[in-house]
Amino acid sequence: MSQSQSPTHTFALIDAADLTGLNTLGLPARAQRLARPTTLDALSQVLAERDPAEPLFVIGEGSNVVICSDLPGLTLSLAIDGMARVKQDNTHVWVAAGAGVHWDDLVAWTVEQGWQGLENLSLIPGTVGAAPFQNIGAYGVELSQLLEQVTVMDVATAQVKHFAGNECEFAYRDSRFKSRDRGRYIITGIELRLNKMPQCNVGYGPLKARFGHLSQADILPAAVREHVIAVRQSKLPAPDVLANAGSFFKNPVVTKERGDALKSRFADLVAYTQPDGVKLAAGWLIEQAGWKGKRLGPVGMHSEQALVLVNHGNATSADVIALAEAVCADVQEKFGVALEQEPVLLP
Ligand SMILES: Cc1cc2nc3c(=O)[nH]c(=O)nc-3n(C[C@H](O)[C@H](O)[C@H](O)COP(=O)(O)OP(=O)(O)OC[C@H]3O[C@@H](n4cnc5c(N)ncnc54)[C@H](O)[C@@H]3O)c2cc1C
Repeated sequence: MSQSQSPTHTFALIDAADLTGLNTLGLPARAQRLARPTTLDALSQVLAERDPAEPLFVIGEGSNVVICSDLPGLTLSLAIDGMARVKQDNTHVWVAAGAGVHWDDLVAWTVEQGWQGLENLSLIPGTVGAAPFQNIGAYGVELSQLLEQVTVMDVATAQVKHFAGNECEFAYRDSRFKSRDRGRYIITGIELRLNKMPQCNVGYGPLKARFGHLSQADILPAAVREHVIAVRQSKLPAPDVLANAGSFFKNPVVTKERGDALKSRFADLVAYTQPDGVKLAAGWLIEQAGWKGKRLGPVGMHSEQALVLVNHGNATSADVIALAEAVCADVQEKFGVALEQEPVLLP
């Protein structure tokens, strides 16, 4: 492996960079060339020097990807830092953060300031830059509810653009950056609008049980954050202890008629009414299909949380894909429901 840094460059270029520690599933792979630009200028310089025909990938902390083989061409891992309050009025504060910031550092900092909004999204792994890509969400809150704008760089022109939250085409674990504009833009930063006066969202199961009896004024973001962290740590395997990529499948949404039909066959079906149908708990479907705690070679579905696919050691992407296909086939056969994978396959 060689590493070069010309005096005129503000980024390091690493050849044949090992990505094994850069994806939380711990799959072995290398990037042909890896750059970590620390500023917008450095990023535009990397893009300007790249042959437009060269494959290009962006990776954050690799907590939502399945790296299937070595990545050809150039891989970017943004190291654009910084978190700041950009403006405020009597009720709200606007906060900006660079794409390279660790997501939970942003949550921790805003909660420490007493600003409310991000506490339910505590301890989600990954970077700020990846957060809008799949519109991260947890415990009844999605990033899209707080996002004021996303700053991007156009890969083809290196021009900086801003998308207002309502232009990002956010949906459940989806955005224009993940779907129709995939590969077109690199997310370089975000701006959020947070509340000065707490109005925490504690309607979701474990939060309701802990805070439901309190009045809004008595529910502090710091207490919600603390509880979310405790619940997550009790339910989800930490990737540095047991390699995983979080929820491996999205919760499928079916029509109301289909949901009713399933409910009549499976009385304890876990389902939530949505504006566009009924959302089924993928973890419940996988557990009922017999996969909770079950292994296939070096990979398996977690024994406490059936939705999480784990690498027990030395797995390859082929092992991961074989297990995902087997789980999907069994859920399809038992319930007639198609599961959709959440992590992105690279390359
Ligand atoms: C234990 C665990 C728990 C998790 N819990 C949750 C949860 O509760 N809710 C949730 O929503 N997710 C959850 N996830 C998934 C994951 O944390 C998020 O999707 C996170 O946003 C991924 O960040 P990352 O930096 O690791 O992105 P990566 O995995 O590196 O990348 C994910 C995708 O985003 C793209 N991308 C990354 N950065 C950029 C950028 N700057 N510009 C353009 N595209 C980019 C990549 O190309 C890739 O396609 C969990 C994962 C784990 C391992």
